[in-house]
Amino acid sequence: MQLCKVQRASAARSSRASRGQRVEVVCSSTAKFFVGGNWKCNGSVASVCKLVDELNAGTIPRGVDVVVAPPFIYIDYVMQHLDRDKYQLSAQNAWIGANGAFTGEVSAEQLTDFGVPWVILGHSERRSLCGESNEVVAKKTSHALAAGLGVIACIGETLDQRNSGSMFKILDAQMDALVAEVKDWTKVVLAYEPVWAIGTGVVASPEQAQEVHAYLRQYCAKKLGTAVADKLRIIYGGSVSDTNCKDLSKQEDIDGFLVGGASLKGATFVTICNAAGPKAQP
Ligand code: PEP
Repeated sequence: MQLCKVQRASAARSSRASRGQRVEVVCSSTAKFFVGGNWKCNGSVASVCKLVDELNAGTIPRGVDVVVAPPFIYIDYVMQHLDRDKYQLSAQNAWIGANGAFTGEVSAEQLTDFGVPWVILGHSERRSLCGESNEVVAKKTSHALAAGLGVIACIGETLDQRNSGSMFKILDAQMDALVAEVKDWTKVVLAYEPVWAIGTGVVASPEQAQEVHAYLRQYCAKKLGTAVADKLRIIYGGSVSDTNCKDLSKQEDIDGFLVGGASLKGATFVTICNAAGPKAQP
């Protein structure tokens, strides 16, 4: 689906700041290619240090937004040592509301206060392992946006849902919940992550991914208007690797990737960040 691609020309800028300094995420007013690295609950002091060194050694095209999401406990180290001319930081989760008596949680306000500009919300692991419903994910998204964060909002169907023909109904329900809560989509990056592709080594084919991305863009055009739909970055996640990223990135409605396992290897992740080809803004 061609959606005013010529309008995707103005530059995007995400300002970064030092720890404790308030940051403002300025998402692209166009579909600037976006690559997120979700480190999940992986790493040690030694491996994080090595990964940061590897990332710093990599070349990242200026026209691509790259965001890495370490576990909370390593964010401070990464913030201090990662080259933030190339990379921005994200958390992997945030509490649904403001600070308070919520043991073990981290609020969106704390993330912005600390200088973290992005958060991943609605990841399938949090939906399935922590019981986060569509409504909870939507409320978290709305709260995080209000606190000033950019949100990488994840949706996706399971294999059973796909095979039983209910994939679009499931995606609609996930999107409907978000649309009910989110008023301003300029700081949202939508990550389509088929659950069956996450961490399995079974990547969606470029055609399978494109079909869903085009569907989601059409959904957004219908519910939110074509201007919002055209500007929204819809990124693909699920077993993205340095070998499959190029073919996926050629698909018209794929505006980037959310990468799990392959984001833990610096050189591999850098290769994926360089897969944008002509989609990287000049
Ligand atoms: C993810 O966790 O968001 C993900 C896409 O993981 P992987 O790349 O390992 O499939």
